[in-house]
Amino acid sequence: MKKAVFPGSFDPFTLGHLDIVSRALPLFDEIVIAIGINADKKYMFSLEERMAFIKESFPNNPKVKVATYQGLTFAFCQEIGAKFILRGLRNTTDYNFEQAIAQTNQNIGEVESVFLVSSPNVANISSTIVRDIMRYDGDYSTLVPKAVRKK
Ligand code: ADP
Repeated sequence: MKKAVFPGSFDPFTLGHLDIVSRALPLFDEIVIAIGINADKKYMFSLEERMAFIKESFPNNPKVKVATYQGLTFAFCQEIGAKFILRGLRNTTDYNFEQAIAQTNQNIGEVESVFLVSSPNVANISSTIVRDIMRYDGDYSTLVPKAVRKK
């Protein structure tokens, strides 16, 4: 079974994330969207809210699972028997950041990273931008899925 982990903070889940998972679905039997918990990081949305946003964005899709994890991503992959890490690439900054991590995960974790280049209509979206717009009461409706729009 081809299982992939799509790791991130998802604070909140955006149309950029939705684009990557939806387009990766034909490649894998199961995609585990894994929310990494970092005790030193402050989040806008609670873990429960972030999980609910993701679950509501994939109603009735048995191939999509939601999980949380602490520690190294490759260790979590090994724990659940996932051989692939799914990541999205918006630009060269993303690529430069991801390269060494992917090489390390392959080298010491024996987990292969699979990258999808974001669709042009969502390449500008980041959770950071969404949070900024939310803080200043701007219109973020075109950047997030329906589940997050209701917030
Ligand atoms: P992280 O803190 O690990 O970057 P994020 O929640 O910001 O977590 O993102 C998770 C994954 O989704 C990363 O691979 C990131 O590059 C990707 N991603 C985020 N926004 C987009 C987007 N607009 N298009 C494509 N990929 C994206």
